Amino acid sequence: MQDRDARSAQRLPAIIPSMPEESSDRVVSPKRRPDDRVDYALRPQKLDELIGQDKVKENLAILIMAAKKRGEPLDHCLFYGPPGLGKTTLSHVLANEMSVNIKVTAGPAIERPGDLASILTNLRAGDILFIDEVHRLGKAVEEVLYPAMEDYALDIVIGKGPSARSIRLKLPKFTLVGATTRLALISAPMRARFGAVFRLDFYEQAAMEMIVRRASEKLKAPIDPDGVAEIARRARGTPRVALRLLRRVRDFAQVRADGAITQAIARDALKLMDIDDLGLDDIDRRVLKAIIEKFSGGPVGLETIAASISEEADTIMDVYEPYLLQLGFLDRTPRGRAATKLAYEHLGLAYPGDEQPKLI
Ligand code: ADP
Repeated sequence: MQDRDARSAQRLPAIIPSMPEESSDRVVSPKRRPDDRVDYALRPQKLDELIGQDKVKENLAILIMAAKKRGEPLDHCLFYGPPGLGKTTLSHVLANEMSVNIKVTAGPAIERPGDLASILTNLRAGDILFIDEVHRLGKAVEEVLYPAMEDYALDIVIGKGPSARSIRLKLPKFTLVGATTRLALISAPMRARFGAVFRLDFYEQAAMEMIVRRASEKLKAPIDPDGVAEIARRARGTPRVALRLLRRVRDFAQVRADGAITQAIARDALKLMDIDDLGLDDIDRRVLKAIIEKFSGGPVGLETIAASISEEADTIMDVYEPYLLQLGFLDRTPRGRAATKLAYEHLGLAYPGDEQPKLI
């Protein structure tokens, strides 16, 4: 590490209260948006308040119990999966269960090794350091993290040129919890240093319904079971989307009706937001239509699709594609993405059948 970085370790730590805001105003975007702030009140605090993800919960319960029994901090954990499924929530739950502090930051906020050094030296024994978008840490920063994760040590270079020497500072035993939407972008040495790696999947309908029901109780929004089912079905298996849709439907129910959310009210409200039966919005449909109409159903490269609808390829990969794959509307082939028969049917388009290029 350069001495410039050692100096910058004196600066304020790059801790941020929440993720950077997303510019998109899609109602069904699983990424965090500024108006999601109220979600904090709805966030489960303990493992047993967490709905769904049973396997992850069971594994975490064992991890927590074992760490408590040994009187040691938790193993470093990595959560991966599409946005809005509960990675941040889980890291807060871990902190609550272990009764330790949590510091929240994100890969892009830690620009220099000194930023990370400053955060690490301010941790207390047992603390959890949560790094969202951990795949976006720079290489130099990652290299500081390796000895910190492995030996709870911070190597600092003092001086320059031939007189430079390295000193090793001892760090408190902390737990790193990383979250990423892109496991493939995590370097092998980084991945190897996480004791436990958990994949979060889209939630089942039953879990989504329970999330909507609990949230409506907390928001004191009257809702009937069909209203719950309707919102849950269109929330893309993503709690963040469910909570956002619920609030929008509640507003609609209060303005256009007597405040009670029924299936009919939920349908009307979601129709007004241009969200279809499966939770697809205009951009999802544009992605599918681009593949079908401009590229004869594919396979076509992601960059090409992105350019044809003026979206970022990264955004398509992180935000739209996972749910379209989950629905079975898209196929990922070595030659690119292809629309499936289900996608044609959903859009009410004729499937070319044999003319469709063979998928590998
Ligand atoms: P991520 O970090 O994966 O983007 P978050 O942890 O921020 O997702 O979760 C998004 C929102 O969904 C939060 O407001 C949280 O309250 C809610 N949420 C996530 N997972 C669950 C769950 N299992 N049960 C109930 N609510 C959840």
